[in-house]
Amino acid sequence: MPKKDYYEILGVSRNATKEEIKRAYRRLALKYHPDRNKSPEAEEKFKEISEAYAVLSDDEKRRQYDLYGHAGIDEKYSKEDLFRGVDFGEIFRDLGFDIGFRDFEDIFEHFFGHKFDYGKRRGADIRYDVEISLEDAYYGRTIEVNVPRMEKCDRCNGSGAEPGTGLRKCPYCNGTGHIDRIQRTAFGILRQITTCTKCNGSGMVIEKPCSLCKGRGLVQKTRTIEVKIPKGVEDGTRLRLHGQGEATGNGEPGDLYIVVHIKPHPKFRREGDDLYTVKKVSFPDVALGTTVKVKTIDGDYANLKIPPGTQNGSIFRIKGKGMPRLRGYGYGDLFVKVEVDVPKKLSRRAKKLLQELREELNDRI
Ligand SMILES: [Zn+2]
Ligand SMILES: [Zn+2]
Repeated sequence: MPKKDYYEILGVSRNATKEEIKRAYRRLALKYHPDRNKSPEAEEKFKEISEAYAVLSDDEKRRQYDLYGHAGIDEKYSKEDLFRGVDFGEIFRDLGFDIGFRDFEDIFEHFFGHKFDYGKRRGADIRYDVEISLEDAYYGRTIEVNVPRMEKCDRCNGSGAEPGTGLRKCPYCNGTGHIDRIQRTAFGILRQITTCTKCNGSGMVIEKPCSLCKGRGLVQKTRTIEVKIPKGVEDGTRLRLHGQGEATGNGEPGDLYIVVHIKPHPKFRREGDDLYTVKKVSFPDVALGTTVKVKTIDGDYANLKIPPGTQNGSIFRIKGKGMPRLRGYGYGDLFVKVEVDVPKKLSRRAKKLLQELREELNDRI
């Protein structure tokens, strides 16, 4: 079944403001929150509106959705990523559903936990753009990039606890790992058991936070990373460096994506694996025919035979002098456009010869 449009789900227009989106979500959450609405469809509906809100309340996710639709979202974000950073707590507190929700983790666990494998949180991916010359793309190269990213704290080895100190019983849940609340409502007594957000359900909290990372277990670091640029790399190629993205508290780090851009070259234009260049040749050379040397991307020269009577703008192909093929073997070709060079200054002798030539040629036209 195709997924419904997020804007339609929330009943807002495509150019709705953030405030309108929030209002729409609050109205619907009030209607479908499982604490209020015990109908079997309510929970599904609540998930649906929460997902729509998670996307449309975030500028980056909303832009991605506007551009590429559901496919763009599904490709870029895991279910968990969708809810990361969305402050449902604020909304629910306003609505009077204070059942211990603090952030997306709680809502995710509470409503989606049984359906999605919550698992460990994976670190975020990092995108890093580099610009290289066409020569670099020809030969391939190893470059160094300085990437700022979150890494595991060395001082506490990611635990968040000051070295030498241990754990103590979580005071929030009294070491049980969950919060048990009893609410009296018009429909009777409602018992809510939620995971303790202070200790994430472990029942233990650190005694003293690490002085370096303030208990986060992560620190910001700029790391120099070697990147191997493959021969024949194309403009816009994305190179994925597995596990070189942001670290995270308890899961796998994200990936680092290097996006390669190739600077325009003064002599060569690239089209796929082929290169295009221009060779200026004198009128006598094209008229009489000759062999000229053409500079190639590897810094060397190739011989190009110009047959007698070659017309201005003719294109010749030199096989195998293009770019290395990124996929597959061998090289593309070099296409050479021959342009007749018209001299701007002439010596006395050249002038005399050309005048003679003109008379000779004009007689024949
Ligand atoms: Zn630390
Ligand atoms: Zn606790």
